[in-house]
Amino acid sequence: MRTVLRSRPLRSPVLPVVAAVALAVLVAPPALADQEGAPAAGDTVVGELVQGFADPEPDTGGHPAHEDSGLLSWIETAPGETVRVPTEDLADVEAGATVEVELGDTVRDEAAEQGVEPAREALDAQVVVPAEPAPAPASGPVNHAVTVVMALPAGSVQDGTTLADVRAAVDGPVADFWDEQTAGAVRFGTVAGTDWPAQTSSIGCNDPFGLWQEAATRAGWTAGAGKHLLVYVPDGSPGCSYGLGTIGNGLGSGGRAYVRDTATSVIAHEFGHNLGLGHSSLRQCDAGPDAGSCRTVAYQDLYDVMGASWGDVGTLNVTQASRLGLLAGATWTMDAGTPRADLQLSPVSGTTGTRAVRLPMPGGADYWLEYRPATGRDAWLAGSPFGLTPGVLLHRSVPGDGDDSSLLVDATPTPSSGWASDRTQPVPAGSSLVVGGTFQVTVTSVGGTAAVTVARLGSLGPTAIDAAWQASGGAGGSLGNPLGGVVCGLAQGGCGQLFQWGSVHWTPATGAVATGGGIRGLWAGTGWETGWLGYPTTPMVCGLAQGGCGQHFQGGSVFWSPSSGVVGTSGAVRGLWASTGGHEGWLGYPTTPMVCGLARGGCGQHFQGGSVFWSPSSGAVATSGAVRGLWASTGGHEGWLGYPTTPMVCGLARGGCGQHFQGGSVFWSPSSGAFGTSGAVRGLWASTGGHTGPLGYPVLPMVCGLAQGGCAQHFQGGSVYWAPSSGTNAVYGGIRSRWAAQGWEAGTLGYPVRPMVCSRQCSQDFQGGRLVV
Ligand SMILES: [Zn+2]
Repeated sequence: MRTVLRSRPLRSPVLPVVAAVALAVLVAPPALADQEGAPAAGDTVVGELVQGFADPEPDTGGHPAHEDSGLLSWIETAPGETVRVPTEDLADVEAGATVEVELGDTVRDEAAEQGVEPAREALDAQVVVPAEPAPAPASGPVNHAVTVVMALPAGSVQDGTTLADVRAAVDGPVADFWDEQTAGAVRFGTVAGTDWPAQTSSIGCNDPFGLWQEAATRAGWTAGAGKHLLVYVPDGSPGCSYGLGTIGNGLGSGGRAYVRDTATSVIAHEFGHNLGLGHSSLRQCDAGPDAGSCRTVAYQDLYDVMGASWGDVGTLNVTQASRLGLLAGATWTMDAGTPRADLQLSPVSGTTGTRAVRLPMPGGADYWLEYRPATGRDAWLAGSPFGLTPGVLLHRSVPGDGDDSSLLVDATPTPSSGWASDRTQPVPAGSSLVVGGTFQVTVTSVGGTAAVTVARLGSLGPTAIDAAWQASGGAGGSLGNPLGGVVCGLAQGGCGQLFQWGSVHWTPATGAVATGGGIRGLWAGTGWETGWLGYPTTPMVCGLAQGGCGQHFQGGSVFWSPSSGVVGTSGAVRGLWASTGGHEGWLGYPTTPMVCGLARGGCGQHFQGGSVFWSPSSGAVATSGAVRGLWASTGGHEGWLGYPTTPMVCGLARGGCGQHFQGGSVFWSPSSGAFGTSGAVRGLWASTGGHTGPLGYPVLPMVCGLAQGGCAQHFQGGSVYWAPSSGTNAVYGGIRSRWAAQGWEAGTLGYPVRPMVCSRQCSQDFQGGRLVV
């Protein structure tokens, strides 16, 4: 039976910038269409779907030297004869299946830019023979038979590596690695080797299957379960990747690979592909672990052999190991009915205890936790190579056969500007994080084992509320008996429960906090958690000054005392109040609700010791006593003085206090009382030294509407007169007395026009003449 699996997919262009640059600078390798007998657009080919990864060489900074070309796909129509097709075109076909494919146009992709033969569109694909299921590993001392062939691809020059070097690498550290990681289930060993050829091949690395076929012919290798062809190509061979391995489907699979190096990390990595593993990559985000704006960086799980590892090859991570079925007895899975669990994680490099925690997510992806201290195979982490840190690591699996089959999730997110240099990925000990919006992971401590608590977010509220109630003494404590169950699904993901004498509310951000008494009553009156106060953030505290109680909320604070009642405060008014010492400062407890929507967008609130007013243009300022009284008598913030602009200052000359407002100033002293002053009169007074100058404090209100539209104000040491035609001048002493006797400004002398001048005598000019005393 032939089944049409999918129609032609919509293709989005290859990364435009890369493509544009590449088109400009690269000379395309010979296209298949130019070769005799090569398939062309419209041809139908039949063959096995083979997939593999062309791996870039890690540079010393740990970044792949080339762009990741991802999982590559070929149709192998005969041994060594292939047509490369875009992997996404055959997304529904299992590797190993025999397929009939209708070919389309040539596609330029990342792999083609790196020298691999160009792919052709797969316009239609039909499975002819399904893939074989994964074979079980064979018995025997070696059950993964490796045939090593030294090869000279077109354009290459033999390097100093010997056949014995490659065999020693496979039989030694590579075999040891996989034997250890699979608990003896996978035992690699070389069974044959073919040394350097006499001549350079005509086949280059752009045709890996041709290269492999040539090597297979020389060595007499045929494909099969547990049979591996490992071709060594000289370092620097043109067009060759650092390594390339075909993808198998389990612990018994064989496969083909070539490498350019004898490093354990690259040979063990390509064999990992042969067993069916994809890459171990890094997931970096800016808002939370795997949350917010994110990127995935291929190969950048630097702890893992399926990432970009170096000379040191760490323990296979738990996500990859579980894909191979290796951790069944060592995995603890959080099933749907488990709200919370306290776990001890054993080192992932060990062979005992719980070494993997699986947190299943809806949709098939799983989060995984492993504890990777610098012990055993991971002892190399003690030197912090490349800034790597031992600790509890968070991974996410990717369902299917994606390129990045395991993601190392950075548990300590940073803004994207810091991602390139961010190598700190473990969950810090003593911290909690939310994973996938579903779980809370807490690492309590790390040592010989790691103490880890996992909880479902949905269970956290009820659990925390119950704990808070128990801590308060339960039914016999301050809250009394519950009046109903815990209600969740409140604002901000919160939960709450009512008790006889109080309530407990919880959110992930605030934890569980109890409220009671009059403070709870006021909170309820503002709309509970949906009102301007939001959720309580700190426990209610009583035994404050004057026998008061207080509690902070997300949006403000509520205080109560026997004399002031229960009152809330918030925002800039609260901030100013707190800065003066709050209820312990000179303002004491709030006595009236904060009122907003005042003139010019202001807010105000009265306290035991004074008032605090705020407006956008004046900020929050407190005022009190006689100054406040005078200000209030002029209409307060709605009068000519407007809002206060500077703190009231006391301890002035002769025990006075003063404060500036938007429209003027108010000064008070015990002997003068409190008066406001403003405009030109205030300006002249200030220029003569204000309350410390000869005029002293004001003793009467400023009066305007005098003759000629003038204003005047009397001070302790004299008077200040202003009129549009005369300007502003002060009048003192004997001159003032004589001028007063002649009827002040309304008399024949009119307004003073100059300051008083004294030498032997004092004189001052007025509009109507001069007075001399
Ligand atoms: Zn790879």
